Amino acid sequence: MRKLRERAKTIGFVPTMGALHDGHLALVRRARRENDIVAVSIFVNPAQFGPKEDFKRYPRTIGRDEKLLKNLKVDYLFHPTPKAMYPDSYALKISMGSPWVKDRLRKKFFPLLENLCGKYRPGHFEGVMAIVAKLLVLAQCHRTYFGQKDYQQAILIRRMIEDLHFDVIMKVLPTVRESDGLAMSSRNRYLSGDERRRAVALSRTLFWLRGQVRSGTRNILWLKREAARRLKPAVDKIQYFDIVDPQSLASLRRWQTEMVVLTACFVGKTRLIDNVTIKVKNQKS
Ligand code: AMP
Repeated sequence: MRKLRERAKTIGFVPTMGALHDGHLALVRRARRENDIVAVSIFVNPAQFGPKEDFKRYPRTIGRDEKLLKNLKVDYLFHPTPKAMYPDSYALKISMGSPWVKDRLRKKFFPLLENLCGKYRPGHFEGVMAIVAKLLVLAQCHRTYFGQKDYQQAILIRRMIEDLHFDVIMKVLPTVRESDGLAMSSRNRYLSGDERRRAVALSRTLFWLRGQVRSGTRNILWLKREAARRLKPAVDKIQYFDIVDPQSLASLRRWQTEMVVLTACFVGKTRLIDNVTIKVKNQKS
């Protein structure tokens, strides 16, 4: 990769865990359009799974993935073993925040890691940051592509890229959805027929809420309550449903012109996440 970079070739890089779907492929297509060389990684990263999570079960479809990437004229596929990425000597942990962060800033930065998925998947984002940092160093890319589907992940990685001065442009592309609105995810293949039908409630509720805000509803607490009331009958458990500031991810009690609504729900045993961003112009209403 370094040699390619020295030869002034632009490199676009898409990190994934495989079991590729159209959401991943949209990132690859964009990378293909914008760069001379495209590299994709497929690595089910053990460091980002909790002990009771689905690391072992996570779908692995490398043969099929390879074909899809070949069709999109991807130049390099990186598919390392866990041992190659985490040899026994591996010792680093990347986290957020530090003892010398003042309380004023603590409030600003800590929700990034501790709210939402960070709260329910302890260690998850540290695992994500560790692997993405390693992959970015290896890929030596000019541009890297992520999905808005994993909103909190994207915000944290942008923070890491900026804080560590990685020489890379990060692009975050919109969530690709099934025709009924369900966000595409490698985990959707865990869903039974009935669960798949119920799973659409996540995106429906998020879109409903965005519609409400666009048509003038400003009562955030009511919106959260009402959204939960709509979600409840369809899903088996709402892990969180929150309206937050797009940058700090701090939970909002009062509406503002830019907000993100995020949810994580269990449908059957499958944990699904989704989010929508909301931008409204008019302060008054
Ligand atoms: P994963 O394989 O789940 O780690 O995802 C790899 C990349 O694809 C991440 O940047 C995800 O945010 C992105 N991604 C996953 N699902 C979607 C989707 N439905 N639309 C757009 N990007 C996605």
